[in-house]
Amino acid sequence: MSKLRFRVVETAFKKRALEVTVPKERPSEYFAKYVFNKEKMFRYLPSKVYAKLIDVIDNGAPLDRSIADEVAAGMKKWAIEMGATHYTHWFHPLTEGTAEKHDAFVEHDGKGGMMEEFTGKLLVQQEPDASSFPNGGIRNTFEARGYSAWDPSSPAFIVDDTLCIPTIFVAYTGESLDYKAPLLKALRAVDKAAVEVCHYFDPEVKKVFAYLGWEQEYFLVDEGLYAARPDLLMTGRTLTGHDSAKNQQLEDHYFGAIPPRVAAFMKDLEIEALKLGIPVKTRHNEVAPNQFELAPIFEECNLAVDHNMLIMGLMRKIARNHGFRVLLHEKPFKGVNGSGKHNNWSLGTDTGVLLHAPGKTPEENLRFITFVVNTLMAVYRHNGLLKASISSATNAHRLGANEAPPAIISSFLGKQLSQVLDHIEESTTDELIALSGKQGMKLDIPQIPELMIDNTDRNRTSPFAFTGNRFEFRAVGSEANCASAMIALNAALAEQLAEFKQEVDALIEKGEPKITAILDVIRKYIKICKPIHFDGNGYSDEWKAEAARRGLDCETSVPVIFDNYLKAESVAMFEKTGVMTHKELEARNEVKWEMYTKKIQIEARVLGDLAMNHIIPVATQYQSELIDNVYKMKELFPAEKAAKLSAKNLELIEEIADRTAFIKEHVDAMIEARKVANKIESEREKAIAYHDTIVPAMEEIRYHIDKLELIVDNQMWTLPKYRELLFIR
Ligand code: ADP
Ligand code: MG
Repeated sequence: MSKLRFRVVETAFKKRALEVTVPKERPSEYFAKYVFNKEKMFRYLPSKVYAKLIDVIDNGAPLDRSIADEVAAGMKKWAIEMGATHYTHWFHPLTEGTAEKHDAFVEHDGKGGMMEEFTGKLLVQQEPDASSFPNGGIRNTFEARGYSAWDPSSPAFIVDDTLCIPTIFVAYTGESLDYKAPLLKALRAVDKAAVEVCHYFDPEVKKVFAYLGWEQEYFLVDEGLYAARPDLLMTGRTLTGHDSAKNQQLEDHYFGAIPPRVAAFMKDLEIEALKLGIPVKTRHNEVAPNQFELAPIFEECNLAVDHNMLIMGLMRKIARNHGFRVLLHEKPFKGVNGSGKHNNWSLGTDTGVLLHAPGKTPEENLRFITFVVNTLMAVYRHNGLLKASISSATNAHRLGANEAPPAIISSFLGKQLSQVLDHIEESTTDELIALSGKQGMKLDIPQIPELMIDNTDRNRTSPFAFTGNRFEFRAVGSEANCASAMIALNAALAEQLAEFKQEVDALIEKGEPKITAILDVIRKYIKICKPIHFDGNGYSDEWKAEAARRGLDCETSVPVIFDNYLKAESVAMFEKTGVMTHKELEARNEVKWEMYTKKIQIEARVLGDLAMNHIIPVATQYQSELIDNVYKMKELFPAEKAAKLSAKNLELIEEIADRTAFIKEHVDAMIEARKVANKIESEREKAIAYHDTIVPAMEEIRYHIDKLELIVDNQMWTLPKYRELLFIR
């Protein structure tokens, strides 16, 4: 059996950089080739229909179903010209992937032949037989209808032979069963609330966009080695494996030269991504060996989320063409960095950016401060919820490890911005007005011009860092759908901005001048949300203690963290903003708990199998060889000398016996613990049981397996080791 391992290692080493077919055109020429974007809409739609559709896309005008037939006809024409034969509604169910069911364009033509058909009805709405998507009990199977409905704000695209239409997915009774529906609602809510606040500064503002620029981290592993690791195959991470002697301690991988075979994969991926309209821009080696990153230019949030889902699928596919498997798991390897997905988030209006300083006028500076402070308030009030939005069984391995943000949400502001906030907090309105030049109405804070915020002022330990013109939410998991974090953040800010407006309006009604009123409320907020502001070392133990004193959510058990979604203030926030109802939140939490349990359950089973089918047999086989050797020594040498010569082997024999016994006992106990947990009715309690009993048992079993890896004959060991998985590229 060990032959397999050596064969795969050998083949992996032999693989050469694969050729990439680089298109003759420039990227700007093939960009969005497979996307039904505005340019194609203009070409393929009647001008009236085009104008109406653009109004829907740009201004959120209600979709007039009467144009659907003509849009469908145009889309079909384009898609067929591009060689598509099928279409699908593409949606994001509450799993971590996307879902699609392909239908061919063909229909009977009534004359014994076939024709290509695609109507407005099929474009706008479909009813996928989706009873087996997670729904948290919202749909009993007897009323298992679910509808997917076209999202015109994200353009249709072609993958292979299929026209993909981005859609939301809702239950017969109207509840969201996906990520996109609540995301669109949250974006709508923040748009509405932010526009009203913008009107204090600029009455011309019509729309506020939330932007997202994700940075996707991932690992690549040779496909042969991957296939020889049942844990990678089944769970996406290694459940056993001792550190390799060298891993990332020399920091020689980060930003290093990209290995040729990897570079070929990246080029190929980028070409395909660009054709799908994903504006990929940055690629580099990450900190851990075999870890890399890809980042596009930021986009409007809904589109960015779709593009991230799309790119994860694309990565999986293209990696295979290069003899790799891509690992998107947050922690595929113990002891080296895990992977995250930094979510760079900002707001902008139809007339300019919002989280950028200094502005051209004092009003712009005050507007900047207003949005920064309200963001901090939202993050402070909902810090537990934001943590819940990025929590998962898989991300739990990364957060709080010594390389990723801790499982506590706080915000890094940097020296300059901190000084500005301190200054505002300490100053009185009069002083501020005295600082200003014109009519006593304009705010002019001397520090603000300096605020051309220094990008070098970085703090990698912060989960929510201000980085010049945006906040970077770094706690998001590499495998997650960005929508989860974006729903919570944008909805929380929408609620916060609406309250800010109410407070300011109340003061204005009492006769305070507008700017004074805004400053008064901001000053109050700066004081309230202080606990969320932390510029220090987020990895330190002192911070954990300090955060608890500040009242920040410090819970580390993922199933318990999910409770944040059902806290009164979260439910109120989601209901007020119209993003999710109590019922939806309850249902989604059921899904989260169930998902958590299932992930751990699968891991525990795989680990049990590995222990029984790989580790114990191999260790015992090696042990038998040692025993054999001890007996033979006795035959060769006098008893005393034989005993002396066999002392080390006897130690090894004992160690193997002890460790294999421990492993066997604990695997049995773990199976029993699963049986107990599986009997628990409540999904929440069951997930907690898995967290409290199964996860620690797996750690203990692993510890002994990893120790065995160090002493058992390398020739016999069946599983590719970390040094092979991490360094063959
Ligand atoms: P880092 O130095 O943190 O790796 P990059 O320069 O690679 O940052 O950019 C990270 C991401 O942030 C990119 O996707 C980029 O487009 C995005 N980004 C830049 N400015 C903004 C902004 N104002 N709003 C949202 N995302 C942004
Ligand atoms: Mg970054």
